[in-house]
Amino acid sequence: MFYIKPDFYDSFKCIADKCTDSCCIGWEIDVDEVAFDKYQKLQSPLGDEIRSCITESEDGSSCFKLSENERCPFLNENNLCDIIIKCGESFLCDICSEHPRFYEWFPGVTECGLGLCCEEVCRILLENEEPFSLIEESDGEEIVLEAKEDVAESDAYIFLSAFREKLFEILFNKEIDFEEKLVKVLSKTEEFCGERIKIRDYKSSLELYKKTEPIDEQWTNYINDLSEKHNSILKFEKEFNEKTKGDMLYSKILAYVLYRHFTKAVFDKSIKERICFAVESVRFIRLCDMKAYSEKGKLTLKDRIENLKNWSKQIEYSEENTELLIYGE
Ligand code: SF4
Repeated sequence: MFYIKPDFYDSFKCIADKCTDSCCIGWEIDVDEVAFDKYQKLQSPLGDEIRSCITESEDGSSCFKLSENERCPFLNENNLCDIIIKCGESFLCDICSEHPRFYEWFPGVTECGLGLCCEEVCRILLENEEPFSLIEESDGEEIVLEAKEDVAESDAYIFLSAFREKLFEILFNKEIDFEEKLVKVLSKTEEFCGERIKIRDYKSSLELYKKTEPIDEQWTNYINDLSEKHNSILKFEKEFNEKTKGDMLYSKILAYVLYRHFTKAVFDKSIKERICFAVESVRFIRLCDMKAYSEKGKLTLKDRIENLKNWSKQIEYSEENTELLIYGE
């Protein structure tokens, strides 16, 4: 089996109490079967407490009852995890020890990554302008594909991941600016698919964002404001481009969105839809950055991280929202 991962994958470390936006707040925390069994056997006051906090979620699986403000009941007042402090990381549920890692499984290959819903991952991606690369590792286990379907999917994966590499070459070319890269990415995709493609303009893209399921009221207000002001925000585009020099950062974001979403076209042939989704997503994130710039006259790394993280939480971490933006209505 082969594993593909971005070169910064192994350097990730959760910043725990220094995180301004703990992932232990506001999300349902599933208790997997292995962790559930461990908790049943844990003979200590914490074991009693954990057992009393386990409940059933809507789909019948086990999860923790969240406390006030949707906090994990084991997140203490210093925003540190009591389960880690008292029992060690091996006592965490899968979801907690894996987050923010993600995996996509293809026949014979697993793609691994770190989700942009985590501000530390955004920081690692955006802190410098150098492109990232994908590294390949093998666990030595030979995979023999026998089912016809698996062989077809494996061939499609090889084909699509090679095309993605070609797009990365365009995106990581330091000689051309971001707008030119977008044009090249789209024309390469037209060549590849043998048909014309058209990305949504800002207005229709924002109309679609308004239809996504909001993570909270703040997001709804933000999208409405962005939609209302987008024409006046775009007047800052030239100045924004000159002052903020974000070409390589947006190229990296686009490459990273393609890394997470493009090869899934193996399963449904949505090649052009996924390219358009990635391009429109980065234009959206850039518009959010322009909004911050137009309001403050500058754009900090913190603003960039916030905008990227909010997009990811709102879109990538909701299957319905991602599908709406990929396939339209
Ligand atoms: S969002 Fe990232 S940095 Fe923050 S607590 Fe979660 S894993 Fe750690």
